[in-house]
Amino acid sequence: MTLQPNDRVASVPESGIRKFFELAEERDDVISLGVGEPDFSTPWAARSAAIHSLEEGRTSYTSNRGMADLRRLISDYSRRWDHDYDPDTEVLVTTGASEAVDLALRAFISPGDTVAIHQPNYISYRPGIQFAGGEPLGVPTHAADDFALTPEALAAAGADEADLLVLCYPNNPTGAVMDDEEIAAVAEFCVDNDIAVIADEIYAALTYDGDHTSIASMPGMRERTVVINGFSKAYAMTGLRLGYMLAPADAIESLNRVHQYTMLSAPTTAQYAAIEALRSCEDAVTEMATEYNRRRRFVLSRFEEMGLDCFTSRGAFYAFPKCGGDDEAFAEQLLKEEGVAVVPGSVFGDGGEGHLRVSYATSMRELKTAMNRLETFLQNR
Ligand code: PMP
Repeated sequence: MTLQPNDRVASVPESGIRKFFELAEERDDVISLGVGEPDFSTPWAARSAAIHSLEEGRTSYTSNRGMADLRRLISDYSRRWDHDYDPDTEVLVTTGASEAVDLALRAFISPGDTVAIHQPNYISYRPGIQFAGGEPLGVPTHAADDFALTPEALAAAGADEADLLVLCYPNNPTGAVMDDEEIAAVAEFCVDNDIAVIADEIYAALTYDGDHTSIASMPGMRERTVVINGFSKAYAMTGLRLGYMLAPADAIESLNRVHQYTMLSAPTTAQYAAIEALRSCEDAVTEMATEYNRRRRFVLSRFEEMGLDCFTSRGAFYAFPKCGGDDEAFAEQLLKEEGVAVVPGSVFGDGGEGHLRVSYATSMRELKTAMNRLETFLQNR
């Protein structure tokens, strides 16, 4: 046999984001508002703990589920969102939220299962569902609803027949946050239609103007929800590759059955960093979140001054203004003419077209210049 991809792999297109960023790398005056990762360094205390663990030579595998101290700290930390998970049986530490998403899809999808995903959304879910043999079912969300998922949209898309729902709020790419009542309505739909939920809450700590509500805290949802979170965004630890899952013991058992054979354990050095992050870096997270919020307000107010229509995003570090028409052409021209890189909304699925994903995980100085360039670009159009 030759090294041909199987049908599942062959059916998945190349990432639209990467394609676009190859263009940006060709010049050196580009301000990138395209990246989905913090511009801050990992808090020093966490880095220092990682260094210390290396000096001590603690470079062996850990327990499959992650170090016991870390699981305990994760369980305590998660109480802020009304989570109550036993550190010994209901927490699994993973190699980034990425592994967690993949594990959940592989452990719970049976061939042919329908998996509802609201759109526009993070680009990894659809391929992950396809790799796992599921059928993705896109459920559109709209700027008019502040990109919240509604039971009406779920029903209209036929998601009452779905087996699973992947829910991501605060959302990448829109920055949308769903409030208590909106989450409660989706929870009711899932209970009524017997749908399990994979809740990717990696941006939970980056929620502005209010707090994050987890669907797992709604009546009837704990037993049908896997919560995913991680250290990449809130703790600026993308390269350390550490995430985790919270779920009832039998679900964690199933997830660990895949994890123990495919990954063995999450990176040990990163687990030491994460333990220290949870012990002593709360203030650093608050400082970063405060700065993202300041930038968010700045970007939204500049959009308003330029007449660029944008709903009020309240989470993550993304704004999702409407550019109208062909968003890919808009983004390409903006890059060519003004050296500002953003991601065309259509990359993120139905409903993303005619929008741009603008990341404000960039210094205020760069953001100011980028907004001035965007204004010039709009004036010249
Ligand atoms: N989920 C969402 C919504 C994300 O935006 C990202 C990172 N871009 C991930 C998961 C993956 O994060 P990690 O670095 O923890 O693998």
